[in-house]
Amino acid sequence: MVNDFIKVKCPDCGNEQIVFRKAATNVACNVCGSKLITPKGGVGEIRGEVLEVVG
Ligand SMILES: [Zn+2]
Repeated sequence: MVNDFIKVKCPDCGNEQIVFRKAATNVACNVCGSKLITPKGGVGEIRGEVLEVVG
């Protein structure tokens, strides 16, 4: 099973956004631009709250 897409909640503005967990680059919130994922050793470090695993 590959669960690479997750829905996270932005810690700064509360925006819910589906992101690729293994992002190779920073993933920013679409609303406020806050960092949601920072790349770290092949697996993204998640800053926001994970609401659900999408697939
Ligand atoms: Zn935000």
